[in-house]
Amino acid sequence: MSSQLSNTSFKFVALGAGNEVGRSCHILSYKGKTIMLDAGVHPAYQGMASLPFYDDYDLSTVDILLISHFHLDHAASLPYVMQRTNFKGRVFMTHPTKAIYRWLLRDFVRVTSIGENSILDKDDNLYTDEDLVESFDRIETIDFHSTVEANGIKFTAFHAGHVLGAAMFQIEIAGLKVLFTGDYSRELDRHLNSAEVPPLPSDVLIVESTFGTATHEPRLNREKKLTQIIHSTVAKGGRVLMPVFALGRAQELMLILEEYWTQHAEELASNQVPIYYASDLARKCMNVFQTYVNMMNDDIRKKFRDSQTNPFIFKHISYLKNLDEFQDFGPSVMLASPGMLQSGISRDLLEKWCPEEKNLVLITGYSVEGTMAKYIMLEPDTIPSVNNPDLTIPRRCQVEEISFAAHVDFQENLEFIEKINATNIILVHGESNPMGRLKSALLSNFASLKGTPEEVHVYNPRNSVDVVLEYKGVKVAK
Ligand SMILES: [Zn+2]
Repeated sequence: MSSQLSNTSFKFVALGAGNEVGRSCHILSYKGKTIMLDAGVHPAYQGMASLPFYDDYDLSTVDILLISHFHLDHAASLPYVMQRTNFKGRVFMTHPTKAIYRWLLRDFVRVTSIGENSILDKDDNLYTDEDLVESFDRIETIDFHSTVEANGIKFTAFHAGHVLGAAMFQIEIAGLKVLFTGDYSRELDRHLNSAEVPPLPSDVLIVESTFGTATHEPRLNREKKLTQIIHSTVAKGGRVLMPVFALGRAQELMLILEEYWTQHAEELASNQVPIYYASDLARKCMNVFQTYVNMMNDDIRKKFRDSQTNPFIFKHISYLKNLDEFQDFGPSVMLASPGMLQSGISRDLLEKWCPEEKNLVLITGYSVEGTMAKYIMLEPDTIPSVNNPDLTIPRRCQVEEISFAAHVDFQENLEFIEKINATNIILVHGESNPMGRLKSALLSNFASLKGTPEEVHVYNPRNSVDVVLEYKGVKVAK
């Protein structure tokens, strides 16, 4: 047998997010067309080590690159790909993704490369602000639900939930349909449309597996738990640190807290328990949210229409650019970035507040393996100081996790996968164990189809390992 791919082979390879969460990047090729999905970094690594395995692939062969959403693990190596490699394809993303990408990546460049707090040598910079600006002009935007044809490849963006602007892409190459979910959520949330099922069926489904076979508590229970634990912490004089990614899920949490503070104005607002949103990007990004209310769900659009005030203009939440303007007296609630406590404002506050028992660190996002957010949940006795590795800091504060990460849980994922009805399923974006458990659960769910033409195949490839599927039966209109 020749190892060469035949004309009917569909090939998938993960350059990142294969049996891991982080640095998402996948390559599809079929009938001479090549598509790249996402271009992220890995939040547990720095510099070149945080990149997908770009050296394993000839990026000059890529026709189009689609970015699912603005999160750093899906978009932050895009300027590197566009400016520092031989990539010469076209790049597409939705309008809100592009609007937020601009500010987010500027901040990413700043925290990773420039300034006194540089954690990298200058030579190890992935890219500069100039690269970012140049790449920005070459990114094309797409609308939800409209089909674009580029270089002989058709694709359509569908709502993915998760964060503002997040899209799933259904791609059609020579009659073969592939659906890439990116990160997605199916539960109704306060401001986003949940993920939709595309009207046309797909042959191949590339789906996230973040939560494996785990089950989420219903949203209302989680909201109640969240507000109760925050309320009881500030009532006894404690400070609450909520590490958040500057944009996206933070805005959902702000809607919850704003409503709760309004409902409990007597005890909280007039008692001056302040809520802060600390991020260099705060103001700019809130502008983007205020602008794109028309891309959100009916609920929030109705509120906007009825009250004639923007739901993202908050009465009880103040913005902090950095900690210089912060007067740390008495109880407060602080939403601070970055979300995995790697460095920056959230890490500085963690080190300041964790020695005190009455304080609370509340993790609401997904914490990637190898980051401080993941480590702190083990409730260690001490943590290392980020600026002085010889110094350890006692950890006595409470640590709690209540997930608002907006990824599907097992039941939601399974229901969606069944609706898509693809016979080939490729799992990405999950640590090995949850991904392996999801694969087993899917195979047993579809066991009755084994041996029939509808048999479902599930793949969980590692990075740089090819998945090759034969599509002889696909009708091709030339
Ligand atoms: Zn995401």
